[in-house]
Amino acid sequence: MTQAQHGGWIPVRKDFVDLDTRCHARAATGRHHGFPDGRAYILRDARGDEYPFGEACARAAVLHPEVLEQVPDYTERDVVRQADALDAVIASASRRRPTSADRDAAQRLAAIRYLVLRMEKVAAVPRVQPTVRFAPLQDVYEQFQRSGDLGRAQVSRILAIERSPATPPRLRATNLLDVYTAHVKLERLIAASNRLDNIRFLRGLHDWLARQLVLSAAQIAAAGIEMHPQAFSAAGVWGPDDARPSDSGQLF
Ligand SMILES: [Zn+2]
Repeated sequence: MTQAQHGGWIPVRKDFVDLDTRCHARAATGRHHGFPDGRAYILRDARGDEYPFGEACARAAVLHPEVLEQVPDYTERDVVRQADALDAVIASASRRRPTSADRDAAQRLAAIRYLVLRMEKVAAVPRVQPTVRFAPLQDVYEQFQRSGDLGRAQVSRILAIERSPATPPRLRATNLLDVYTAHVKLERLIAASNRLDNIRFLRGLHDWLARQLVLSAAQIAAAGIEMHPQAFSAAGVWGPDDARPSDSGQLF
């Protein structure tokens, strides 16, 4: 994946983009379309610069469209439209049985995503809890930044850390994806709001998210963000008895 592709475009990830972002590819009309759902494929050119593409444009830019399925998806816990979810179920049902190479590839993607979420994306959230950036992952993160890839031993080590009983549930992969998704959505709302009291309220929720790495159902509803139905509800996230404070009505 890291070697130069046709046209020099290398798929890097699927990620959230700012709502005013335009696709890098120029459509036949000469116009650059936007991303109404706020998600894009990020492709890297031969010089190492990254640009956003819509799915069809990304498919056209790379030699083998399958490579787009071999990038980490940081938007996976976003809410998806019913029709898209159904398409994905049908597509996966019609797919052949996974080979050991498929499983290796899936593990590699899971390791990259966990490493980047923990050391970069969630670590960069303002005022985030300092336990997110994990010193034992620093050397492998720096190697990944240089090479753009992970060796088999590094993949195993990262996945072992993610699954370790010593890793708090709020620092596991799915919860960090939920934190990143909620962070992006709250920042979008804050940027779009022009009411000071509303901005203050949303900033308060964002600070809570950064410190606690969770939002309750009441907080999600009060913010008015749309999250995955199972967001912040992984095992152990609310403590040993998983008492999720969704009905208490208290926001902080
Ligand atoms: Zn496009």
